[in-house]
Amino acid sequence: MVIVFKPGAPEEAKTRVKNNLKNQGFQINEINGVNMTIFGIIGDTSSLDINLLRVDDFVEKVMRVQEPFKRANRMFHPEDSIIDVDGIKFGGQKIQVIAGPCSVESMEQVTNVAKSVRESGATLLRGGAFKPRTSPYSFQGLKELGIDYLKAAKAETGLPIVTEIMSADKIDRFVEDVDLIQVGARNMQNFELLKELGKTSKPVLLKRGLSATIEEWIMSAEYIMAGGNENVILCERGIRTFEHYTRNTLDLSAIPVIKKLSYLPIIVDPSHAAGMWWMVEPLAKAAVAAGADGLLIEVHNDPEHALSDGAQSLKPERFEKLMKELHGIAKIIGRYL
Ligand code: PEP
Ligand code: MN
Repeated sequence: MVIVFKPGAPEEAKTRVKNNLKNQGFQINEINGVNMTIFGIIGDTSSLDINLLRVDDFVEKVMRVQEPFKRANRMFHPEDSIIDVDGIKFGGQKIQVIAGPCSVESMEQVTNVAKSVRESGATLLRGGAFKPRTSPYSFQGLKELGIDYLKAAKAETGLPIVTEIMSADKIDRFVEDVDLIQVGARNMQNFELLKELGKTSKPVLLKRGLSATIEEWIMSAEYIMAGGNENVILCERGIRTFEHYTRNTLDLSAIPVIKKLSYLPIIVDPSHAAGMWWMVEPLAKAAVAAGADGLLIEVHNDPEHALSDGAQSLKPERFEKLMKELHGIAKIIGRYL
């Protein structure tokens, strides 16, 4: 971290800042110019309150030279990490596709969708059991029963299961029965939940918050990793912008940015970004071309009657067609599905 003092800042002010930092265990490299003084702070400044320094009357500006995240930082871990979800590896050459309905609605529904998406090449099954709905009057999910149905679908198809956790009190059940625990956009900054997940070794799929910056998103991954669980997969699912044609704006630039800043795998969910099924195909292709390590796609056997997110769900036939087309794109960039 670098602190630049205002021209003519009094010695007492600089000494006060210096002593304060020294008392916190930092070393200071002082550069005195004709008008200005600069402090280079040596030490781990990730817990330092940068804003407290910024509001000092005699400080011109404060700049971080290092990101506030350490465990998730590529600088300290140059190799991409490969996260193993019940034998399915995220972050390698193979692009993994998670597919399934928004909500688990019945045993028959989720099992049938699971069979069809597996035929098309999906490698994991998704389905919401606990649903974070904007309205309390909307379908809230089958809860524990939904997990039972997902398990039954896994038993039939062999597909590992991905489902969303909404509160820490359910963690034992999720650790026991779920292969990849999803933290939804609305809970990306539920820090107590993240800390509890950090105490487990279960892979976590961390979706980007509705209006979260990339740094805030990585800091949430850092919460899980700081607890000792390094099995984090990031998921870009669109962010809020001024554009309302789409449900969210898919931030494809997050893929190269995450690859630069971190070594964690990143997958893309074009379904929740678009909000409309006909946009899922081009966005999925673009995500693969841009280097995503996987996709999360909502597929429903009867979207017109889905209990949630029918408008953005692909029918199994469309999903099959998309998977075929994705092979060609993956091949061009030296990867496969
Ligand atoms: C979901 O995956 O069903 C979901 C609710 O996603 P998000 O948290 O991205 O809105
Ligand atoms: Mn959904």
